[in-house]
Amino acid sequence: SSYNVQDYLRSHIRTVPNWPAPGVQFRDITPLLQNPKVFRVLIDAFVHRYMDPHLRPDVVAGLDARGFIVGSVLAYELNVGFVPVRKKGKLPFTTVEETYELEYGSATVELHTDAVKQGDRVLLVGDLIATGGTMLAGKRLLEKLGATVMEGAAIVDLPELGGSQRLRDSGLALFTLVDFA
Ligand code: AMP
Repeated sequence: SSYNVQDYLRSHIRTVPNWPAPGVQFRDITPLLQNPKVFRVLIDAFVHRYMDPHLRPDVVAGLDARGFIVGSVLAYELNVGFVPVRKKGKLPFTTVEETYELEYGSATVELHTDAVKQGDRVLLVGDLIATGGTMLAGKRLLEKLGATVMEGAAIVDLPELGGSQRLRDSGLALFTLVDFA
């Protein structure tokens, strides 16, 4: 029998129809985290890639909030620091901020001005790429501080929403583990 990491992880993602709004198929990753065997497969897939000396970042940045879960464990395993990209109003020190458009309205993300140094090679981690707007805003924040985002990583890509293509078009390399068509 063949074993495929993408299929294994996909089988542990729960789809909740019409949540949080009619027509949305919410891809719930909590079952991945809850099962220790699956959680280890998930984290090890990222660790395996970013342990490579050519891909090992100086810093892991995580996108609020589910990007913190994978990002912080990954940073720990790589023995590099972790920095949070947060929704507006949560960070106490001086920040840079970036506002981006949502389907209805807009959102703002923030990063502490001392979170990264000029020239740092940063891995930006999220849970899921939908429109790609959040990850693109995070990339811009890190670049404002002079860092280079060497890659964006997420558990899930929803390619039909066009976000991953948009991010690649903006020059960001991406690594995702599970696609939902
Ligand atoms: P986006 O900026 O559009 O790429 O998506 C921002 C965030 O919204 C993602 O990191 C997810 O946490 C969440 N999200 C958007 N669409 C979905 C979905 N269909 N299922 C689960 N989470 C979603």
